[in-house]
Amino acid sequence: MTTSPLHIAVVGGGIGGLAAALAVARSGHRVTVVERAARFGEIGAGLQLAPNASLALEELGVLDAVRRSAVAPPQLVMMDALTGEQVAALDLRSDGYRSRFKHPYLVTHRTDLHGALLGACREHPSISLRTGHTVTDAARTAAEVRLHFAETPERLAADAVVAADGLHSRLRQILVNDGSPVCSKYVAYRGALPVSSMTGAMAQHATTESVIVWAGPRMHLVQYPVRRGELYNQVAVFESDHYTPDGDDWGSEAELEERFAGTCGTVRDALPLIARDRRWPLFDRPPLTEWVHGRIVLLGDAAHPMLQYLAQGACQALEDAVALGQALGEHSSPEDAFAAYASRRTERAASIQTNARRFGEICHLDGMGAVMRNQLLSGRGTEDFDDVAWVWTPVGDLQPTITS
Ligand code: FAD
Repeated sequence: MTTSPLHIAVVGGGIGGLAAALAVARSGHRVTVVERAARFGEIGAGLQLAPNASLALEELGVLDAVRRSAVAPPQLVMMDALTGEQVAALDLRSDGYRSRFKHPYLVTHRTDLHGALLGACREHPSISLRTGHTVTDAARTAAEVRLHFAETPERLAADAVVAADGLHSRLRQILVNDGSPVCSKYVAYRGALPVSSMTGAMAQHATTESVIVWAGPRMHLVQYPVRRGELYNQVAVFESDHYTPDGDDWGSEAELEERFAGTCGTVRDALPLIARDRRWPLFDRPPLTEWVHGRIVLLGDAAHPMLQYLAQGACQALEDAVALGQALGEHSSPEDAFAAYASRRTERAASIQTNARRFGEICHLDGMGAVMRNQLLSGRGTEDFDDVAWVWTPVGDLQPTITS
């Protein structure tokens, strides 16, 4: 890029916002991140990072930092939550995996990934970070955007803005005004506990390095270790029979117990160790093609909130960030760069959003549907990545180039 650097404001300091800040700064621009929370941080649960995310992290210069605490699981295993039998497995350390994807499949604590991104942002001389700044409005002219905040009458003027303010994005509401996110009626309970605090069968089970998905009727449990294997992450998900659009008393702990009552012993052993302090209703939205609004562009969950069944929300935010950095490196005007970024990203993000819903339906089948799913999947080899390759392989300029 030959023209003078832009000043770009990034709204939201989650995984998407910090990754975007890094990518934009690395493409030669000055960045201010504004985050509404009093401190930067993430909640205490795990995150799967497929090879498309590892590639993006490498492009952002933080893969080594993430790998220091992440676990590279040997397998991705689907189990039947009722019978306790294995349905299918993918070998993530096989030659087939390595030759196809080139980058590792990792599982990490969210705090560790967020911390690696935050550390890199703090070290970058062109990034400044502000907490306690809740964006309420964005006044746009042809040449700049002025952000308004809830806490202060001060305005922040920037040449352009990246809206990485998450599922309930204020900027998306202002720019797109497409209503509220869609609630799936499913809810998650999740958290990561020290393996050293576990006893009995669960202590033994928590030494398993693989990612295990226990699929059952309208429910599932995901388990994997994080932070060098010191913590064991568990996410229990189920559809509530008591959902109401305005209530917050559906998807209760009692319903969790009820829904998981018929599961096999290993799943029932896990339940008492799943955090109950907070429940997470699960939302998405239908795909959106208009990510660019003059000098403001959407990124991460603000652009493409998706159900977590393909474990891709954060992975896609990381892909967004790299694509945005590349576009800003190639185009001197923010409008052109944003248009190039959106044209690279909207179709792929949309298909992952749409297929995440479908994969959830497959995972939650009951009766004959579940029997047929198990029969179909059990015929697949451990190096048969054909069904997931399109998800784990970025398109266009983000194609893997480096062997690791
Ligand atoms: P967020 O993490 O929501 O960050 C938005 C930030 O913006 C926040 O810090 C917020 O405080 C700030 N903010 C909001 N409004 C304002 C405002 N007005 N002004 C200033 N700041 C603001 N993804 C994966 O890739 N792999 C997985 O295994 C995976 N598992 C998941 C499991 C569950 C149960 C769930 C619910 C999600 C999972 N995801 C997974 C999805 C992933 O967590 C999200 O897609 C990702 O965290 C989105 O990051 P983001 O930065 O876009 O949004």
